[in-house]
Amino acid sequence: MRSVFICVTAIVLVAAPIRPAAQGVQNAVAWDTTFRTIPDAKNIGDYMRRLSARPHHLGSAYDKDNAEWILAKFKEWGWDARIETYQVLFPTPKERLLEMIEPTSFKASLREPAIAVDPTSNQDAEQLPTYNAYSIDGDVTGELVYVNYGRPVDYEELDRRGISVKGAIVIARYGESWRGIKPKVAAEHGAVGCIIYSDPADDGYSVDDVFPNGPMRNRDGVQRGSVMDMPSYPGDPLTPNVGATAEAKRLEIKSAPTLTTIPVLPISYGDAQPLLAALGGRAVPPGWRGTLPITYRIGPGPARVHLRVAFNWNQTPLYNVVARLQGSTLPDEWVVRGNHHDAWVNGAADPVSGMAPELEEARALSELVKRGWRPKRTIVYIAWDGEEQGLLGSTEWVEHHDEEIRYKAGIYINSDGNGRGFLNADGSHSLEHFINEVARDVEDPDTKMSVWKRLQASVIARGTAEKREEARTRADLRIDALGSGSDYSPFLQHNGVPTLNLSFGGMDDDGIYHSIYDDFYHFSKFSDVDFRYGRALAQLVGTAVIRMADAELLPFQFTNVADTIQTYVKDVQTLLKQQQDEITERNRQIEDGVFAAVADPHRPVQTPKVEQPVPAINFAPLENAVASLTRAADRYKKAVDVSAPRLVANRPAVAAINARLIQGERQFVEPSGLPKRSWYRNLLYAPGYYTGYSVKTLPGVREAIEQKRYSEAEAEVVRVARAIDRETALLDAASADLERLK
Ligand SMILES: [Zn+2]
Repeated sequence: MRSVFICVTAIVLVAAPIRPAAQGVQNAVAWDTTFRTIPDAKNIGDYMRRLSARPHHLGSAYDKDNAEWILAKFKEWGWDARIETYQVLFPTPKERLLEMIEPTSFKASLREPAIAVDPTSNQDAEQLPTYNAYSIDGDVTGELVYVNYGRPVDYEELDRRGISVKGAIVIARYGESWRGIKPKVAAEHGAVGCIIYSDPADDGYSVDDVFPNGPMRNRDGVQRGSVMDMPSYPGDPLTPNVGATAEAKRLEIKSAPTLTTIPVLPISYGDAQPLLAALGGRAVPPGWRGTLPITYRIGPGPARVHLRVAFNWNQTPLYNVVARLQGSTLPDEWVVRGNHHDAWVNGAADPVSGMAPELEEARALSELVKRGWRPKRTIVYIAWDGEEQGLLGSTEWVEHHDEEIRYKAGIYINSDGNGRGFLNADGSHSLEHFINEVARDVEDPDTKMSVWKRLQASVIARGTAEKREEARTRADLRIDALGSGSDYSPFLQHNGVPTLNLSFGGMDDDGIYHSIYDDFYHFSKFSDVDFRYGRALAQLVGTAVIRMADAELLPFQFTNVADTIQTYVKDVQTLLKQQQDEITERNRQIEDGVFAAVADPHRPVQTPKVEQPVPAINFAPLENAVASLTRAADRYKKAVDVSAPRLVANRPAVAAINARLIQGERQFVEPSGLPKRSWYRNLLYAPGYYTGYSVKTLPGVREAIEQKRYSEAEAEVVRVARAIDRETALLDAASADLERLK
């Protein structure tokens, strides 16, 4: 039914163009309705074919060629576009060797072969070999130890079995934590080298047929990827906190803290199987088993391996394409949208399936301009380079323009690839209501219901009783907080820009991530084959951009922020309580001799040590702050409702309120940053120090509790409470301003 109205409105609009000067709130809605009729799935497929035709990693010839092609497209569509260049450290492999020397000899192939039916898989002259970027050079030999996912909890399990990795080379499987965490934790435990492999349980034959017969990872497929210590800071390792311009002051390579401290290499399951099969010792616990046809054992040894890697430590030029549509009445307020254009190899799924819709949005927006539309705010569209190495393009740009972005950027909308299925919307909770409203107006290509309605159905179908009830009754579907792993991170967590990360997915599995087989052939056979979800993404993001650019009053909503922070406070309280109960119970079991009584003498496990009881923490400052924020958010919501009809008549006063609102998310930003990692300045959201991609909310408080630094946790409670109080004061001031409008 909705789609019929869209068509009718569009026809009326085309027939009777509206003069820009006459635009009000009504017309903004009409313009975004027209916009949604413009994106064309065929164009999205054409852009993908072009951008993924050859390998286009940072520093490659085709990466630069793509940047220039994207620039030409923006210019052709009338945008004010240019390339902004930085110089970044990007190591590429000079030497890679992995061999087993005992008890038998085996040399890993470290090679992904071309496949006859896949026309771009044979471009080996331009393909980056399989490796992990920002591993240090190294030549090490040692006994092999299998460490499961290589998380801190996996090493606790090894400790209980009396197994040390000191002087050993560990082999970890991909999954559960971000890959950069694996060598970091291995080195903390004394390992001298780290191998990471893709187990078929995760994205290989246990899931579905392997490529080229199916979408999953074949026995030679390797996941490349960065292993820099991104939870400390992303971006160029040599220029933390400043843009990596040619003249920027740089750290020396040997003192760059985000490089690994041990050599690392990723391998396929074809290469991993002989190594794992040669391990002795006890069989692994059930949660450690993959699905290779072997008995999984931990070692150490008798397998001994030799790992040698060496890199060209070059400075490489990086090309961000930055395009602007100048705002008519509020040019100094920006709506920023981005996706990266660089890939590990051909990268049809990652990143082009998100980059191609972004280009189609840009074309469709310029189409609106031809029909008379002028955005009130400035729209900035960016194609990032160097994302794969550690968010280099976006981080350097945000660091370089930090001050300007702080006062101008009202929102950053990111995507990084796209598939078929349900809407994924994560981000700042001040935008939760906004993106719910947008999603109600975009049609799902398969079901023809709104993408909002389909998402609601999926939450109901998958959720717990509590989630089901909430999805049926709460006005807005909840969005999740953002951790890291894409270009939103510097905007949200360093600068404090309200941020959304958007995509569709959930219908298709694949196992080609960061391999040579992520290409047009694979995508057009196994993913969004007719690009209809690419079109839906362009419609969704474009609608959000237009509404944000044209809103009289920036469409933030803070009752959802207060509601969400409330849940975070409960979470950290529960976490502390669980830790108190666990440690009390374990100490009791140790003292009562329970561990000794149930132990299997043939498989000895060490009794844990008695730990200090967990102290109480005073959460009152946080509880009081959230209660005040809830009241302020309710007052602001009422003030917005009452003042809505008066905004147009009070534009100068409203402009001052908007300038205030742009600083809303930034009240949660603390210049001194989080403990141990000052680059991360947002006290609400950060990637986990030991998880990497996945988010830690109230990270200062939560991680101090997790890592048993209780006095630090209490100090962090006070810091977060103060940030929330700043937000409350800002909202009260904005409410008072709105209430004064006549
Ligand atoms: Zn990506």
